[in-house]
Amino acid sequence: MINRIISEYTGGKSCIQIAESINLSIRKIQRIIAKAGIMRSKSETFKLAIQSGRMKYTKGIKAPRKRLQDKVRYQVFLNCGNKCNICGNTAEHARIQIDHIDNNHNNNALDNLQILCELCNRGKYYNSI
Ligand SMILES: [Zn+2]
Repeated sequence: MINRIISEYTGGKSCIQIAESINLSIRKIQRIIAKAGIMRSKSETFKLAIQSGRMKYTKGIKAPRKRLQDKVRYQVFLNCGNKCNICGNTAEHARIQIDHIDNNHNNNALDNLQILCELCNRGKYYNSI
């Protein structure tokens, strides 16, 4: 039984697929694989899942953000008077964040940036999706 699990796993099957074909829980199979020392790395798992069609490759969905320069950040705080642009909360009462007004995180132009408290920023986000 263990040999069959190991050969199916090294042949590219996932623990879930193996669990479906034999009468064992996914957890038990994972334990056997881990004990045998043949656990796949995350990137190998990801590659296999894409090859087999279980996952889709989603390139570019999470592009890295442009870093906000310290001087720009400082200027935003000066412009907004250190408080949330919506409710007026200050850093004493809430976590303060810099918000991109047009929701484009790469548009770091000064007139596109404002200070929001964490609550207002989250509210704005959930309102936009
Ligand atoms: Zn606020």
